[in-house]
Amino acid sequence: MSEDRECLNAIQRLYEFLDHELDEADADAIRAHLDACEPCFDAFGVEEALRAIVKRSCAAKAPDTLRMRVVTHISSTVIYTQGDQPV
Ligand SMILES: [Zn+2]
Repeated sequence: MSEDRECLNAIQRLYEFLDHELDEADADAIRAHLDACEPCFDAFGVEEALRAIVKRSCAAKAPDTLRMRVVTHISSTVIYTQGDQPV
């Protein structure tokens, strides 16, 4: 698996990871990737901050449109950081 495939996979599963919807093995894989990959670790920090804000406004989850926008934004950030072509 190439590195940016792993990054996209990690980011696309970030919400499941944060919502504890992944099984142990998958959660460990994401955790290991975040540990080893700075762009994804940064993205994870952004996501955690966003969730804290959303929580404060009493919503359980970000609305789907906001979720999509954030995931798209984070995904393109990672791709640019790694100097790859945007998808
Ligand atoms: Zn990564």
